[in-house]
Amino acid sequence: MRAAIIGGGFSGLAAALRLKRAGFEVAVYEASGRLGGRVRSARCESIPLELGVEGFLDTDLATLELARDVGLGGDLLFAKPQRVEYLLGLADRLAPLPMNPKALLASPLLSLPGRLRALGEPLASPPTAEGASESVAAWATRRLGPEALTQIIRPVVRALTGDDPEALEAQSAYPALRRLTLAHGGYLRGALAQRRQRTGPLFGPGGRLITPREGMSDLIEGLYRALNGAVHLNAPARGLTRHRNDWGFQAGDERVYADLLVLALPAPSMAALLAPLDAALAEALAEIRYMAAERLALAFPQGGAPQPFGAAAALLDDEGLHRVDFYGALFRPQAPWTLVHALRHIPEPRLKPATSMLEAWRARFGGPPAQTWSWRFELARPRFELGHAERVARVAARLDALDGLHLISDALNGARLEDLAQAAEALPAAAMRLER
Ligand SMILES: Cc1cc2nc3c(=O)[nH]c(=O)nc-3n(C[C@H](O)[C@H](O)[C@H](O)COP(=O)(O)OP(=O)(O)OC[C@H]3O[C@@H](n4cnc5c(N)ncnc54)[C@H](O)[C@@H]3O)c2cc1C
Repeated sequence: MRAAIIGGGFSGLAAALRLKRAGFEVAVYEASGRLGGRVRSARCESIPLELGVEGFLDTDLATLELARDVGLGGDLLFAKPQRVEYLLGLADRLAPLPMNPKALLASPLLSLPGRLRALGEPLASPPTAEGASESVAAWATRRLGPEALTQIIRPVVRALTGDDPEALEAQSAYPALRRLTLAHGGYLRGALAQRRQRTGPLFGPGGRLITPREGMSDLIEGLYRALNGAVHLNAPARGLTRHRNDWGFQAGDERVYADLLVLALPAPSMAALLAPLDAALAEALAEIRYMAAERLALAFPQGGAPQPFGAAAALLDDEGLHRVDFYGALFRPQAPWTLVHALRHIPEPRLKPATSMLEAWRARFGGPPAQTWSWRFELARPRFELGHAERVARVAARLDALDGLHLISDALNGARLEDLAQAAEALPAAAMRLER
């Protein structure tokens, strides 16, 4: 069977490789002149740095398996777990994000009644309520109390997503958290059980971050090599048609026909392609909004380098709500540089140009970095807003009537590479059902 994959980011390449390994004849069509999409590596002399995706987690193995499949098994770096620490801003200092009940009990982020209320979480409300659609703010208040929402959940959610917890749907934005709460009758109980179960390569509630030795672009290059040239660059897809069992589209000068069509794109790009074919499907996809984000990487000469947080990662609840990673230090020695990565979500596109972020960071670090890199992603992350699950259900219902069409997207499958790799892994079986 012929499979055409539109989109040459991680999802499209992972989908193509899984289908190729299952015996499909595959071809990838990428609009731009480069592969990788939101994977975008750069270098500070010989040290890799990431302007897009920083790594993947070992909490499930789909991405790790792909990396091994393309020959990167011996070239993977695992983050040093003890160096990962998230810090939140208090009025006059930074305090660690409490990662377990003991740390919560001692945390200066909450008053004593606030801490006791949060620790009473297993008694707070029946886990059956987890099935209902509610905002992250409502979930946090119900389970952990109003103070935990204001002091911990809000700054963390805003720094990680750029959105307010009131706007986000708990079950869509944090599905793993909901699963954990349901399975163990409470979130804290679930987190404790998860910690106890973790052995071997796994670490901490969020898993361990992995990156190829020479940067994430090596994963993309590995996938490209494994696809053996079945990739077309500068080939934006448009003019989608369906005739009997054939899917057709225009890719540059070429008219492409395939039995199986995979769209591996952000939701708005899918909506644009599908609009002439299925207006209701396109409408549901177009309702999923994305957040723009700006990545900034700064290289400070070591010695004069600022290490104000003494940790690998920090979340700062100052006006800008930046997320900062001492990213390079997680994986490899960086002498003679200290690399600092910052990520800022931009709800208002074009409101704050990269230079204003740079100036803010110069002020914070007390001196200019020796080198800076920045990149802006207009479609950085899907916003899992209230009503998201219902929109995804509408998409799934429309897809039922469109045999041979498969969608893989961070908006539908989950925002991490692992989610997308899992969706790619499931593709061959779904496609075989069509053949029968
Ligand atoms: C700054 C940043 C950091 C991140 N860090 C992490 C991280 O550390 N770990 C993690 O798991 N996730 C991370 N993410 C999320 C992750 O980047 C995405 O989930 C993932 O990369 C999405 O891959 P994709 O292939 O689905 O989409 P994309 O990477 O956006 O790729 C889509 C591709 O399709 C192409 N395209 C668009 N329209 C067409 C068309 N009509 N025809 C042909 N091609 C088209 C685009 O040019 C693009 O190359 C991060 C995201 C950002 C923005």
